[in-house]
Amino acid sequence: MAKFVGAALGSIFAAVFPSECRLCRAPLANLSRLSVCDECLAKINPITGLRCHVCGDSLPSATPVADGGPTLCAACRQELPAFAHGSSYGAYLDELRELIHLLKYQQVRSAAGVLGRLLAQAAEPLFSADDGLAAAESVLVLPVPLHAGKFRERGFNQAELIAQAALRELGRSSGRNLEFDTTVLFRRRATESQVGMSREQRRENIRGAFTVSREHVAGREVLLIDDVMTTGATVSECARVLRAAGAKAVFVVTVARSSRQSSGFSTAASATAFAGAQEASYREEAVGAALVGARGPLA
Ligand SMILES: [Zn+2]
Ligand SMILES: [Zn+2]
Repeated sequence: MAKFVGAALGSIFAAVFPSECRLCRAPLANLSRLSVCDECLAKINPITGLRCHVCGDSLPSATPVADGGPTLCAACRQELPAFAHGSSYGAYLDELRELIHLLKYQQVRSAAGVLGRLLAQAAEPLFSADDGLAAAESVLVLPVPLHAGKFRERGFNQAELIAQAALRELGRSSGRNLEFDTTVLFRRRATESQVGMSREQRRENIRGAFTVSREHVAGREVLLIDDVMTTGATVSECARVLRAAGAKAVFVVTVARSSRQSSGFSTAASATAFAGAQEASYREEAVGAALVGARGPLA
């Protein structure tokens, strides 16, 4: 009996604190709730190089630097988003993508701590920029909300967990009064999968999905937080309703960026390739959800 209890406890312990890295399967030297090895974490790097002044997307190195004016990506040149500036930590690839998937699809909540620290680093330039939040004494911080159905299914909103972890860092480094609120912005309807949709179709699909409690945002500077930005249609729609409700300016920060430029979204031929990549990512989402169902929460 004692032997049986010991074995049962051992397997529970192994599930909560696996002895190998959840990403590369290498044996772990130290037990931790996250159970991702230092080598995998060290491979997560910030985006470097030229970026769009408005949305923060990386630009091909051949992009001509504007004479005197800001350098913008093709999408922002065509039409500016409803948010003033966006910033992301790293490309939505490899270890960073896997870490986000651990949180979203395998319920490894401790991943939010690492992701929040990365997000805080991405937010720092927004707090120091003159056309950013440099002059704002107090900032309203809002996570992009999930629809209630999705929230029940997942059990948490990943953007909210990441934002809470980031705020612990940002409160110290920014010296500003950061007011975190999850009762301001709501997602009132679930949206269709955006697979294969054009930029305009994505915008139509998400339009009207969010609602704002008006009295909270009038005259405020808002920092909107999400895990990943792709075309920016979701955060731009959130920014649009916040501005319509009187927000002074909206800034966006995400942990990862699925770059339009690197996926060549600007040309018709590669828009198909982009749709393909998106489709693969949605399939991943379905597989991730199935995995969660099969394995249950790990942390
Ligand atoms: Zn590893
Ligand atoms: Zn841009």
